Amino acid sequence: MRGRPDTASWAASHAGSGTPSVPPELLFDQPLGELLCSRTAGQVLDEAVLGAVQYGVQELGVPLVLVLGHERCAAVTATLERLRTGAPVPGHLELLVDEIAPAARRTRGRPGDWAEHTLRAHTAWVRDAIRADPAFAAAQVVAARLDAASGLVSLLP
Ligand SMILES: [Zn+2]
Repeated sequence: MRGRPDTASWAASHAGSGTPSVPPELLFDQPLGELLCSRTAGQVLDEAVLGAVQYGVQELGVPLVLVLGHERCAAVTATLERLRTGAPVPGHLELLVDEIAPAARRTRGRPGDWAEHTLRAHTAWVRDAIRADPAFAAAQVVAARLDAASGLVSLLP
């Protein structure tokens, strides 16, 4: 993931919730301004995000869309709490929880760390949703997980 000379080589959708707010250019060793980024909590998609990424792919020729989730995501934590307690989530956070909840429900019974399973399943789901959309057919679409402590990014299967 290094040494791409062209501008706007990468599009990243990265959650900023409860995460070290590391600029994506530093994560990927790219010059400042090299990446087209659209950040939402829990890398939740909405029409505004999709429009921004579509602009990157179709108008700027961005070849790669990277959906980047991160461990200890506050949006995932809020979703699990909602499912555990049934307590309502205030205001606009409801949208985030609604979007992440399907991944949390699918992985609830698995052994191990529910938050980690949810993060991976949700991030892969977002990737698959973008992949399935013809607006992004010109780009490669991948999902990855950021380890907050080490700054390491690993691709998700
Ligand atoms: Zn987050």
